[in-house]
Amino acid sequence: MKEQINMLVKLQGIEAEAGSIKSMLNEAYSKLDALDAGLVEFERTIEEQEFIIDELKKQYRDYESDSRINLEREKKTQATLRSVKTNREYQSLLKQIEEEKAKNSEIEDKMIECLDRMDETEKIIAMKKEEYLKLSDSVRNQKEIIKQESEQGRIKLSKLDKDREKVTCVIDPELMKKYLVIKKQNSGGLAVVPVKDALCLGCNVNLPPQLYNELFLGDSLKFCPNCQRIIYLKNS
Ligand SMILES: [Zn+2]
Repeated sequence: MKEQINMLVKLQGIEAEAGSIKSMLNEAYSKLDALDAGLVEFERTIEEQEFIIDELKKQYRDYESDSRINLEREKKTQATLRSVKTNREYQSLLKQIEEEKAKNSEIEDKMIECLDRMDETEKIIAMKKEEYLKLSDSVRNQKEIIKQESEQGRIKLSKLDKDREKVTCVIDPELMKKYLVIKKQNSGGLAVVPVKDALCLGCNVNLPPQLYNELFLGDSLKFCPNCQRIIYLKNS
């Protein structure tokens, strides 16, 4: 029985290691997804800024055309001014020219403001693009590391699978069944636990003295009366 329990402990160790490798692999997938998502998010902020630039360019072209029309209008008014007959007409045209000049200067101010904003946005884009390059470099490196670790994990996992098969072969099927039931009852956790100084290390409850003494014989399967797990004597 002692040998059988040893095999169960070994099996449990193999399963625990395989379990932690599997969760490491799962984590690796989410890490890869998160890295990709980070890059996509960054691309989106750059796209947003590029959209702003396009809008500003459109606006600038509109201002240019407004300015052209307005200058043309002013020129015409100036031409009319040379052919007026009355003072009243003359004064009214002068006033009109003044208004047109004011409007032009207003448009020019807007154009300058637009150019300033374009300049600012271009700077932001250049900065973001630089950051993006650094980020994608770092993402590439991190992905490479994760992929290598995952590959090693998969190799280790297939070795553990083989080990598990070997160990399972030598365990009595009835014992194996009990092991699996207890394991399930403990949500995949420990089914076999050591006892040290009469203390069950699975639940930290003391065993009755008689059971503890029987455990030293090692001739039959024993269970912790508290947590119902299979118990064995811890050597050290
Ligand atoms: Zn216990």
